[in-house]
Amino acid sequence: MRRADLELARRAYREIALYSVDRSPCAVDVSDNTNLFGIPSAAERAYREAAVSSLTRYPPLYATQLKAALASYAGVSAAEVVTGCGSDDVLDSAIRAFTEPGETLATSDPSFAMVPIFGQMNALRVSKVPLTATLDIDAEALAATGAKVTYVCSPNNPTGMLASRSAMEGLLELSSGIILLDEAYAEFSQQEGFLRTAPQLERLLVVRTLSKAFGLAGLRVGYAVGPAALIAEVEKSRGPYKVSGSAERAAVAALTEDRPWVDAHVAEVIENRARLTDSLRQLGLSPLPSSSNFLLVQVKDAPSLAKRMRQEGVAIRPFPQLTGLGDAIRISIGPWPMMEAVLSALRRTLR
Ligand code: PMP
Repeated sequence: MRRADLELARRAYREIALYSVDRSPCAVDVSDNTNLFGIPSAAERAYREAAVSSLTRYPPLYATQLKAALASYAGVSAAEVVTGCGSDDVLDSAIRAFTEPGETLATSDPSFAMVPIFGQMNALRVSKVPLTATLDIDAEALAATGAKVTYVCSPNNPTGMLASRSAMEGLLELSSGIILLDEAYAEFSQQEGFLRTAPQLERLLVVRTLSKAFGLAGLRVGYAVGPAALIAEVEKSRGPYKVSGSAERAAVAALTEDRPWVDAHVAEVIENRARLTDSLRQLGLSPLPSSSNFLLVQVKDAPSLAKRMRQEGVAIRPFPQLTGLGDAIRISIGPWPMMEAVLSALRRTLR
């Protein structure tokens, strides 16, 4: 691009590169932590039925029916829920709602890679705070950044580990700004998150998604739960019509009719997570203990290992030089035959 064109855009955008993970098709793709068990059936049916009828008119402004279904799932009231085009959109909108350009967004490191990009997109200073030696969030150091918005991911992507309850409580007490708690993977954890209690905690917004346990990443439906006054500000920042009519109908069907499908596959992920952990240990690897639908495994030269795995028909996500951990690969957990394909490709690759 010509320099003059670059100068037309926000200054902060000069530092932003387009998101470029390798998404080329691969026989077995365990690289993106989506649900590898297929599509929940009521959502599929509702989507097919909605597809044509919802094309010519605009969808509801702020997804009223979807908010009602999410409120019932979360055990909160509809005024305490905001939706968006994936939780990416909800995170971006929430970050923008509570910051002025030039203010600080704090995040742990390593954590969800998109968050520093959302910071740049909103012309913020991004303060990255390393995880502690036990891979917990460092509440004191996060609070010491004085950030207007502090992002915490629990279970954390890419470590798979939960932020401890005591560190979360410490952060809520010590920090003065908004805490955005991303629980995208909470359904796979056996501990209760903060979804139900967020509305009572003045400065906490819990962000979740239908892209993982609900198996609907392509629909792009995410949401946040928190005090109604904060939720209303995120809704202003997000703007109207962000969830398409077909997505709203399919998401409502999933939330009201597909819960047995979700619960059964979450249980299978948890079972396969333990089984895959054992099998990886037998290969001499040491996956981190995970509360999510993926395992992080420290390796030597992750990019080269991922490349060789791709040649064996298996896509995994490489993470070169993670702070405090070094190189690692992330493997999403799915049906056992898929895990066997991953293990045999690893065996051939590590030989
Ligand atoms: N948060 C975390 C921690 C994630 O890993 C992801 C997906 N990679 C997202 C949010 C975004 O998910 P979506 O936009 O599909 O809801």
